[in-house]
Amino acid sequence: MNRLLLVRYGEIALKGKNRPFFEKKLLQNIRYSLKGLEPFEVLFQRGRYFVKISTENLSSAQRRLQRVFGIVSISTVTQSNLDLDEICRNALETVKEIYNPGMTFKVNTRRANKKFPYTSPEVSSAVGAYLLKSNLNLKVDVHHPDTIIYIDIRGKKAYLYSRVIQGLGGLPVGVAGRGLLLLSGGIDSPVAGWLALKRGVEIETLHFHSPPFTGEGAVNKVRDLCRTLSSYGGKITLHLAPFTEIQKELRLNCPETMVITLMRRAMFRIAERLAIKKNIPVLFTGESLGQVASQTLENIVAINAVTNIPVLRPLIGFDKEEIINIARKINSYSISIRPFEDCCTLFVPRHPVTRPQLKELEKAEESIPLEELIDRCLENIESTIINSGHERSERGQADAEK
Ligand code: ATP
Ligand code: MG
Repeated sequence: MNRLLLVRYGEIALKGKNRPFFEKKLLQNIRYSLKGLEPFEVLFQRGRYFVKISTENLSSAQRRLQRVFGIVSISTVTQSNLDLDEICRNALETVKEIYNPGMTFKVNTRRANKKFPYTSPEVSSAVGAYLLKSNLNLKVDVHHPDTIIYIDIRGKKAYLYSRVIQGLGGLPVGVAGRGLLLLSGGIDSPVAGWLALKRGVEIETLHFHSPPFTGEGAVNKVRDLCRTLSSYGGKITLHLAPFTEIQKELRLNCPETMVITLMRRAMFRIAERLAIKKNIPVLFTGESLGQVASQTLENIVAINAVTNIPVLRPLIGFDKEEIINIARKINSYSISIRPFEDCCTLFVPRHPVTRPQLKELEKAEESIPLEELIDRCLENIESTIINSGHERSERGQADAEK
């Protein structure tokens, strides 16, 4: 049988003049997601994509496409010549794949090619009659069938399928520009990154670690989180920023209750500088209003006060339970709950300030050489490109030794 994957998109069809740009991006992303399953061919025809791929790679390809944003649904289709007998035979093969004795069915035909000499109802009833005459135990039920056999007659072919598998929806990654995600090892920020990808934002990630207090396990965890995100968003650059020195200075010289807020302010300053250097216009974080003491509205304002570029917080109105549900669905949860210390879970004060005063924060920052520390942190950032399959270090050496 001549089997293909039919890939449908939704929201991007609405984008007017930008439509060709969206369609091209989605085509690139589909091709990228299938890397390693060669040989394959992706064709764009009349607002849908067809993937030609070997039978043994068909189900892996389908699983990968279920992670490509912009795709609304996928079907494995059988391609048939425009010949009613051949269509009937292919319909029978399609039914056999999902057959249960006694199952009910209905045939649903659409005929975009009006040159085909039979009308849609004629095709449906011819195919229905053929299926009933077969040696399978089938019944017709036009109201609540167990399965629907779809026959789509367009151009020079007919396409037959019975299953429609849901895709993720959203927009193709890359159509909405780029963002820098502050990625901790926690549950929230990977979900925030996934939501950014979902709306078409290509992300780079920035993680602060505090060696030797945070070990290799914590860094591996973040790499694995990036790998998971990259299975949805293509390759992702991870920037690892050394935060030990800043953390020590804050601990030694500033009031304990303010340390978390001061650490976040330092992170945001560094993130902004890196974003500007990389020509990235926005930051993303996993903050959710009121979730912990450092995420009160007052703290968010105090932390935000140090940056000029927009900070987007996709989880701001989410409950923890809702975030965990998404984390489970996208497979980041089991990585996030690995028990490695994050730089912020070290030295956490028992009672962090919930209503920080900007003047006091600024005064505390004056007691350390903040600019110098930030410069040094930025100079020592290590950047790695992470793929769901393989990864390559821009600095080469440092990573090759690990
Ligand atoms: P998460 O589960 O994402 O860690 P959280 O609920 O634990 O979130 P916080 O630890 O207060 O919240 O962090 C708030 C946000 O600050 C995180 O979602 C993340 O965007 C950023 N952040 C925190 N720690 C780090 C870190 N070590 N490196 C990079 N970003 C961080
Ligand atoms: Mg955290």
